[in-house]
Amino acid sequence: MNVEVSATQAAATLRVKSKLENGVIRPPTNLELIVSDHCNISCRQCNHASPVMRKWNATAEDAERDLQCLTGIYRAKYLRLIGGEPVLNPHLADIIRVAAKADVAEKLILVTNGILLDRLSDDVFAMLDEVEVSHYPNVGLKDAAIEAIRLRGARLGTGVRVAKYPEFRYSFSSQLLRDEQLVEKIWRGCRIANIWGCHAVYKGKIYRCPQSIYASGVRQNACDSKDGLALNQGADFQQILLDFLNSSSPLDACRNCMGTNGKKFSHEIVIRKGWSGDLDQPPEEMIDYELLETSLAGMSEIDDCRVVIREGKWSRSRFATRLRRIKTRFASR
Ligand code: SF4
Ligand code: SF4
Repeated sequence: MNVEVSATQAAATLRVKSKLENGVIRPPTNLELIVSDHCNISCRQCNHASPVMRKWNATAEDAERDLQCLTGIYRAKYLRLIGGEPVLNPHLADIIRVAAKADVAEKLILVTNGILLDRLSDDVFAMLDEVEVSHYPNVGLKDAAIEAIRLRGARLGTGVRVAKYPEFRYSFSSQLLRDEQLVEKIWRGCRIANIWGCHAVYKGKIYRCPQSIYASGVRQNACDSKDGLALNQGADFQQILLDFLNSSSPLDACRNCMGTNGKKFSHEIVIRKGWSGDLDQPPEEMIDYELLETSLAGMSEIDDCRVVIREGKWSRSRFATRLRRIKTRFASR
């Protein structure tokens, strides 16, 4: 299939770039810190490929080394600790302590499927600005458990957001997309790359999107992404980082990834052994072409697979707890 990118389409897709403000890189929104690769459930087309990733946990030393390279030169709105399932990481409490002090974002958020959240102590839960529970159908997380997480958040001064994902979109194909113009179109129409600006830190490197860590892995069954930039503390690193983040060409991973324009299907839990088989289709058959055209004409920020069901409200006691936490954080610097 040969699809041309017209000049009008390219211009219509207004890309939100990272900007240098007061000497600091301000990305569009998120920085994700990947703290584990594996997960306790196995969602079809998981866009972090967790069902087939080997067990891996970041350590607090890994997090400190990587975040230090960004401290003072890069500051996101949100630092999201994510996996896989981050609560599986036995070092998570120490990673949260490191992340809370790193000063690379305004808010610290833990993103979890919520099933194992009881493993987190109150002390550690209270260090987070927010817990975001990704709620998938048929994984056994009952309404009562969600309410208990909300009440715990209210008690500890931590916001709790619950987002339901009744539907997913195709993320990855194990086959390479060889049509360069279609690759360009997928990248230009990808909300992750162009609107959400979701950067990711993983094993000493920073990536323009988390999918680019994993897309090459689904191609060759080994994670050897070419899309990362090695983090370092060199004097010229900030300019190198800014140029990298705002690069105006598709990633190598875009050849195996549909971004936000894959066809939609109802969320499914699948057996791990069968997870990769679902990826063995040509990417051309996984793309929602109508959505891709709409995205190229102008993208909205809304993730149409995600339904936020109710956000935790800021109570007076939560505000007081939050204020105390900020003071403690600054006092410990
Ligand atoms: S909960 Fe599902 S989508 Fe999230 S990391 Fe685990 S397998 Fe992937
Ligand atoms: S790899 Fe490309 S298409 Fe996939 S999320 Fe990243 S930028 Fe978007």
